[in-house]
Amino acid sequence: MAERVAVIGAGQMGNGIAHVFAQNGFDVTMIDVSAAALGHGVGTIAGNLDRQIKKGTLQPADKDAILGRVATEQSLSAVKDAALVIEAATENRDLKFKIFADLDDAANPDAILATNTSSISITEIAARTKRPDKVIGMHFMNPVPVMQLVEVIRGLATSDATTQRVLALSKAVGKTAVEVQDYPGFVANRILMPMINEAVYCLMEGVGTAESIDTVMKLGMNHPMGPLALADLIGLDTCLAILDVLHDGLGDPKYRACPLLRKYVAAGWLGRKTKRGFFAY
Ligand code: NAD
Repeated sequence: MAERVAVIGAGQMGNGIAHVFAQNGFDVTMIDVSAAALGHGVGTIAGNLDRQIKKGTLQPADKDAILGRVATEQSLSAVKDAALVIEAATENRDLKFKIFADLDDAANPDAILATNTSSISITEIAARTKRPDKVIGMHFMNPVPVMQLVEVIRGLATSDATTQRVLALSKAVGKTAVEVQDYPGFVANRILMPMINEAVYCLMEGVGTAESIDTVMKLGMNHPMGPLALADLIGLDTCLAILDVLHDGLGDPKYRACPLLRKYVAAGWLGRKTKRGFFAY
């Protein structure tokens, strides 16, 4: 029998993580408190598999088998058979602390408990369990079926065995894993968010328009997307939340969020998801 992986959360990251594990032969249980999110998550996986078939990277005959490996559940107790649990629920500290305390009770004592958090401390999440050696960050990039990287984050107590197992599992689903340590923003967002923030300062100070700032970074630095368009894709509220984590956690004023970013979030201009951010959609 294939190893079972449980994914907590069926949102844009959770369904992408379920997709790549099922496509690589794992049995997956996708768990969400919302039945609508589960339905939408399975629909998104089906749509993304169709896209892979159209591109010629997946045989049409494989689609039903992959979907057949994804079970859906609404209760955390469904994690009991999983060797690996990957939490990809909403980015909220108290919510994740509660989920990990509950997972510690519900999961097999040998199971590894991973989180896809973008910015919350792995060490603090692990401290909510009695198995901090088996808690680790597994930070997939969006969209998960497309992006190569998994940032694997070791909390203070994460064991070598847990880390090696998660590096191997990342490879088994076709990803390139990079091991990093648990500091605010890890590596990806520690470097990306200050760049995005600086682009917003350039916009606020009138150094350039949104179009000219993004064009400089695309054509001058060979970035596939400009920083302001990327911020709109990630969500301006998410960018602000991560900058606040960097500022609080590292205590250095260089991480202070640009007032213009705060103003956009206050206005509800959150990027693509609200059809308006630095650009209109
Ligand atoms: P999302 O809003 O699309 O999905 C979150 C899902 O979690 C929702 O379906 C919600 O119903 C579910 N949920 C909430 N509470 C739950 C609970 N107690 N049990 C089970 N499910 C619950 O969010 P997302 O963009 O998929 O982000 C999920 C995680 O991934 C966050 O920690 C985020 O920081 C991280 N992440 C996001 C991105 C990105 O680009 N969006 C990239 C990397 C990491």
